[in-house]
Amino acid sequence: MCGIFGRVGTTVANAVSREDDLALVGGVDVIAADDGLTTASGQTIATDTDMPAMLARAKPEVIVDFTRADAARVNVRAALEHGVNAVVGTTGMEISEIEELGELAAANDVGLVVAPNFALSAVLMMHVSKLIGKHMDYCDIVEYHHEHKIDAPSGTALQSAIDIREARGSDFISVPTEKETLVGTRGGVHGGINVHAVRLPGMVAHQQIVFGGLGQTLTIRQDSTSTESFVPGVLMAVRAVPSLPGLTHGLDALLGLK
Ligand code: NAP
Repeated sequence: MCGIFGRVGTTVANAVSREDDLALVGGVDVIAADDGLTTASGQTIATDTDMPAMLARAKPEVIVDFTRADAARVNVRAALEHGVNAVVGTTGMEISEIEELGELAAANDVGLVVAPNFALSAVLMMHVSKLIGKHMDYCDIVEYHHEHKIDAPSGTALQSAIDIREARGSDFISVPTEKETLVGTRGGVHGGINVHAVRLPGMVAHQQIVFGGLGQTLTIRQDSTSTESFVPGVLMAVRAVPSLPGLTHGLDALLGLK
């Protein structure tokens, strides 16, 4: 588990340690406790700051990464080069980088699952939004995260905008604002979709996709109220990734949505 002392990393580590068919064999983080980590199920596992050293010591079949983009690209490359499968939740990497890592995975005959959101409700939100976007001409996305999130917009918001625009086949209508008295107020734009990022204490991960048409709106809202929301999707990916060589981007295929 890379980022084992992080918000999501700790939750995933505890969840894996409770599963009978999975074994948590090691953790990596920027500061690694000398006495390792004792999980919720009472298991103590070794932790290290050195990813290649931990790979050699723990010999994992799969790594899970919830760190930062700059760390994830190094961790994932090291894993794939050592013939280890990877499940990546870290956001902020460019699509081109993810595709390049997918090629490395394929060349080493291992799997790489990268998902901007492991909450199944978020995957379903993104799936139905692709259908709705074909019939509505306006779309804004508002995402809400905790104040310490380092990237904006969230990986989910960016991927939602890309996927909804692609499914529609043309840009949404985004009427240019004649006078923006506060720069950035209309958010970032992809394919006519305005994306807005809110950062507040008390938030985990939330998103509203608001579609507009003549005299009507349709709002889809998804809330991850705790980091537990990511666990079922991560466990599903961990179990599936050894039999999925190359890149699997998103959980749609694993959920039978593709
Ligand atoms: P967090 O609490 O800051 O956790 C990240 C952890 O990774 C921290 O303990 C951090 O240490 C550690 N880290 C930093 N550099 C590292 C390195 N080189 N090697 C190993 N560990 C390193 O953040 P979080 O809320 O858990 O989120 C982590 C990532 O997952 C973010 O990119 C977030 O956007 C993403 N995320 C994705 C999903 C999804 O479903 N895909 C859901 C939630 C979050 P320091 O604190 O010392 O820097």
